[in-house]
Amino acid sequence: MTLRPEGNGNDELTRARDEMVRYQLAERNIRDRRVLEAMARVPRHRFVDVALRSRAYDDHALPIGSGQTISQPYMVALMTEALGLSGGEKVLEIGTGSGYQTAILAEFTPRVFSIERSPQLSRSAAATLKELGYNNVILKTGDGTLGWPEHAPYDRIVVTAGAPDLPAPLFEQLAEKGILVIPVGDRDFQSLEVVVKRGGKARTSRLIDCAFVPLVGREGWDR
Ligand code: SAM
Repeated sequence: MTLRPEGNGNDELTRARDEMVRYQLAERNIRDRRVLEAMARVPRHRFVDVALRSRAYDDHALPIGSGQTISQPYMVALMTEALGLSGGEKVLEIGTGSGYQTAILAEFTPRVFSIERSPQLSRSAAATLKELGYNNVILKTGDGTLGWPEHAPYDRIVVTAGAPDLPAPLFEQLAEKGILVIPVGDRDFQSLEVVVKRGGKARTSRLIDCAFVPLVGREGWDR
C-alpha cells in the first residue's frame, strides 16, 4: 500500500499504521480494499494530542479533549465500509470530533459535510484537516441531530455518537436509496445500525454492538 508523504515523517508511526491496517482491520474482515487503503493513507497520529501520538494506532478509542474520543480504528473502518461509498456521494457526518473519520470520508468523495457540537473540537479538526490538505470538507458547529437541511439530500449519513433513536431530521435529509449508519441504544451501549431508504421507508439492519459517547441534542440525549 502507498502511504501519503505527510504520514511518513516517522518510520515507527508508519509501521504502526500498516500493522493497524493488517491486524486490526484486514484480519477482522474489513474487506473493502479502498477502505483499507484510505486507512493506510490517513495519518491518524495527526488527529490526537502530541502526547498520545505513540498510541494513535492502538486498537481502541483515545481521548481528544472536551470529554470526547477519536473512535477505535476498527469502528471507523466498519462504519466507512457500511456506507458502501463508490466515489461520487455527498456525505454528511454528525460528530466531527478530531476530524479523523472526516478525513477518511474525504478520501472517497468530492464533498463531505460534518457537524460538531463542540466549537473547540470543530476548530481543532478544521486546523488539522487544513494542514493535511483536505479542501473538500465543510465543517460547522451546531446540533447535528437536526442535520444540515441547506445541503440536503445526502447520499450517505454517518453518525459517530450514540443516539436513543434515529433522529427524524436525518432520515428526512437522506436521499432515496441512501444509506445512514448510526449507533442506536442507551447512553452507554448501542447497536450499530445500517438504515437504507427505499420508497421513503427505512430498512434497518444491525451490524455489531458498540459503545459510543452520547449524541447530545434536540433529537438525541439531554446533556
Ligand atoms: N468521528 C470522530 C473522530 O474520528 O474523531 C469521533 C467522534 S466522537 C466518538 C463523537 C463526537 O460527536 C464528539 O466529538 C461529540 O462532541 C459529537 N457530538 C455529540 N452530539 C452531537 C450533536 N448533536 N451534533 C454534533 N456533534 C455531536
